[in-house]
Order: sequence, then C-alpha cells, then structure tokens
Amino acid sequence: EAGRRPLIAGNWKLNLDHLQSIAFVQKLAWSLQDAKLDFRTVEVAVFPPFTDLRSVQSLIVSDHFPITFGAQDVSEHDSGAYTGEISGAFLKALECTYAIVGHSERRSYHHETSELVGAKAAAAIRHGLVPVICVGETAEDLEARGASAVPVEQLETALAGLPKGSDIVVAYEPVWAIGSGQAATPEQAENVAAQLRAVVGTALGEEAGAATRILYGGSVKSGNIASFLREPNVDGALVGGASLVVDEFAKIARFQ
Ligand code: PEP
Repeated sequence: EAGRRPLIAGNWKLNLDHLQSIAFVQKLAWSLQDAKLDFRTVEVAVFPPFTDLRSVQSLIVSDHFPITFGAQDVSEHDSGAYTGEISGAFLKALECTYAIVGHSERRSYHHETSELVGAKAAAAIRHGLVPVICVGETAEDLEARGASAVPVEQLETALAGLPKGSDIVVAYEPVWAIGSGQAATPEQAENVAAQLRAVVGTALGEEAGAATRILYGGSVKSGNIASFLREPNVDGALVGGASLVVDEFAKIARFQ
C-alpha cells in the first residue's frame, strides 16, 4: 500500500543449522525463480540463527539470490565485555539488512522490556541495520485492555529514543496468535496496524509513519496471507512455523 513494498519475513527461531540453512535458501530461491516471482512487488527475507548467517550470506551473495536476510536479535552494546552478545557491527559486516528486536519469545523467556527493545533498535540503526520491532498483546492483555493498548505502549516506549526519520519495520504479533493456529482476523490486524502507524508518525515524523512497513505475525499460512495483505495498513507478514517449509513459505511469498 501507498508505495510500501510488502515484506514476507521468515523467522526460523531455533531451527535449521548452518548446513540445513544452505539447502533451505537454495530450494527457496529456486522455487521463487521457477514461479517467476516479481521481486519488485514483494521482498522476501529470512531470519536464520546467528551461526547460519555467514553461510546464508555467502550463498545469497555468490548466487545473486534476490532474497534479503537478518538476525533474530542484536545486542544493545557495540562491543566490550558482554559474553554471548552479538553486535550490530558484526551483523552489518555479514551484510544483514535487518535485526528483529523484541520478539515475544525474548520478551517472555528473557524478560526483555520495551526500554531494552528500544536500546536494541537504536543499536541496529547505529550500525545501518533496519530493526524489525515486534509488539503484541497476550491473551490476558486482550481480555483486560483490548487489542491495541499494550502494542501501542510497547511501540511508543521502543521508539522514544530513536532519531526522527529512522528506517524501521514494525511487526504486530498478538502473542495468542503465535504458533497457536489461531490467527487474528484481517480486521483485527488492520485496526492495530493503523494505530501503530500513527505511533510511528508521532515518534519519527509523518514521512516515516507513511513509509514504515507494518507486518502482521501469528499463524500466517498460504491460505490466509492474501486476506491480511488486502488491508491498507498491513504491509507483509512475519512468519514462524510456516517459514520452515520451503513450498509453503514460497506460496506465502506468492500471495498475489
Ligand atoms: C512468530 O513467532 O514470529 C510467528 C509469527 O510464529 P507463527 O507464524 O508460527 O505463529
């Protein structure tokens, strides 16, 4: 919509090692090529584990596959005594385009706050990466406060320290829809996406608000992707489970 190229992003989570990643990306690229996917009308990105990134980079760059890639997380620090962390500089050096920040699994299992998510987004931007900022309400939040209150708060906090005009992607992922097989309705996704776009406009400026891609995530499959993409404020999808099956993910990318 409005000149925003849809983004179909596959979050592999803790799946596929570096050898499997090569086989997967090769099959995916060939499948999209066979289908004559027009990459001017859709962007396809994969988010492998950190240890796969070097392999994925080598393959995509050497074979000129028109697929982009990113990391599933990034440190808020640039370098130093932070055992186990990965800096945005290292990801940029591997030609990552994106870094996911604030995925609900990191918020819940690693107690990441929206302040930390904002610091990670700032670190990504500092190094020339585009942060994919994930927000979304739990079933309890939905019950207590409706769908949009928590994601709006999470995004306002995460964007508070970012420079005006920053290039970001937002992923609206209701936690109750992730991995549950129970996707939100397109109307629910559109309603929250429109509010999140307004938050981006206020925090980063109207131009950024209009240019930012807002993805829906949560049990997206080839059978429901088109209904989400029809919504004016939904500009793609962050896909978990269905991104691990080449044919299914390729079908999602061919939603038109
Ligand atoms: C996700 O975790 O980002 C996600 C959307 O998962 P799934 O597609 O499996 O619901």
